[in-house]
Amino acid sequence: MKLSEITYQRPNMDTLQQTLENLCTQFENATNVGTQLEVMHQVNELQLEFSTLAALARIRYDLNSFDTFYEGERAFFGKQTPVFFNYIHGFYRVLLKTPFRHLLEEKLGKRLFQVAEFSTQQNNETSTNIDQELNRLEGEYFKTISQGTVTFQGEKYPLRGLGKFTQSKDTLIRKAAKDAQFDFWASKEKEFHQTFDKMVQLRDKRAQGLGFKSYVEESYHHCDFNGEQVATFNQAVLKYFVPLNQRLYERRLKRMEVDQVYYYDSVKYKNGNPKLRVERAELWANTQKMYTELSPETDVFCQFMLENELLDTEVREGKCPGTYASVLQKYGMPFILANFTGIARNFNSLVHEMGHAFQKRQTYKEGIRQIEYLYPQSDVAEIHAIAMELFTWDWYSPFFKDDTAKFQFSKISGMLNSIVSNCCTEAFQQFIYRNPKASPTERNQKWLELEKVYYPYHTERRLFMATTLI
Ligand SMILES: [Zn+2]
Repeated sequence: MKLSEITYQRPNMDTLQQTLENLCTQFENATNVGTQLEVMHQVNELQLEFSTLAALARIRYDLNSFDTFYEGERAFFGKQTPVFFNYIHGFYRVLLKTPFRHLLEEKLGKRLFQVAEFSTQQNNETSTNIDQELNRLEGEYFKTISQGTVTFQGEKYPLRGLGKFTQSKDTLIRKAAKDAQFDFWASKEKEFHQTFDKMVQLRDKRAQGLGFKSYVEESYHHCDFNGEQVATFNQAVLKYFVPLNQRLYERRLKRMEVDQVYYYDSVKYKNGNPKLRVERAELWANTQKMYTELSPETDVFCQFMLENELLDTEVREGKCPGTYASVLQKYGMPFILANFTGIARNFNSLVHEMGHAFQKRQTYKEGIRQIEYLYPQSDVAEIHAIAMELFTWDWYSPFFKDDTAKFQFSKISGMLNSIVSNCCTEAFQQFIYRNPKASPTERNQKWLELEKVYYPYHTERRLFMATTLI
């Protein structure tokens, strides 16, 4: 079944509530484990159906944010998903009281009960209302950036449509393209600061309402690591990775024969950045060949993705910028949204998201249907994606031809840099959520301070951020 052939119908929330209440009663009254398993199966089916419709509405809206029908459906799920979770938490509460817990754990594993315990502790009526408002604000933000356009050399482009110009070897073109992109963000600065402020306040309120000191503590509660471990890791990054990044930066200056780089200098090699050297049709033929050679499982998987419209990579006005992998759980169908402009980073995004998508597809193919076991935590999920980036290392040359070694060097440098930039962002987020009353100016100043710590050699970038964001 292709993506476009899937029928969408808005779920009826009253019917869902009634059905789930009946199932809770049946579960409570069950006198044997078999009946409870049967009820759990039905609850699971309802969850798969709901999450599939929510994902389908989101995908169709993200592919075309001018579609008012799916705009309404996305808003519907923004409001009703927290309500649906409340119904599910009601079921979790009766599940946790079952006298057959050991028998159910034997059949379904212990993790399901851990999820039930965790979810019921982490939500209440206030948090439901807050989640609805957060979803609404997120929707507003994505609509603005999906419909955002930039004018460059007299032509209108979608926000993510300037990739090849921002990587041009011609400095003037590169600078003009970057400035056109920054003009868009500057024009929305006030609006985005307001939305962001509201989101910070809401997250803080949610965390406090659940008994956490701040949203930082609430976030760590969702992970298998804690604040102390993050601080230790961060110290190691400052000690080892920041100097290593500096050495790479110095190599780049030497290579380019310049004294410093500017905010528009995304070109890192004298004869240009590595480029994808294939046209669209060849790109997909090479991708299929790569996955065929990699393993029998990835061969079948890639064919499935290509045959069923599960990769949308074209840049279009109204389409959500960025890249992500989603899944229609009921059908075990992953979906990848990306915006390809022919730059090397697009290939990176493709193999990264294929890693996420492969995890989602394999879980289904191995017969796992219990919803609590379909998603790893977000930190663990990245293992699949980064592993796919590295597994495909030996297959880059049909895509990059003479640029292959350059692409491999860029890739490793980029991976090292992303560890530094993620730590910088993490430190920034800690500041934001520990200081929810900080003004936009204070937040921007903090960002500049942190950049000095994580990118001490990158002076120009700092000045640029200072003059445009404050
Ligand atoms: Zn990822």
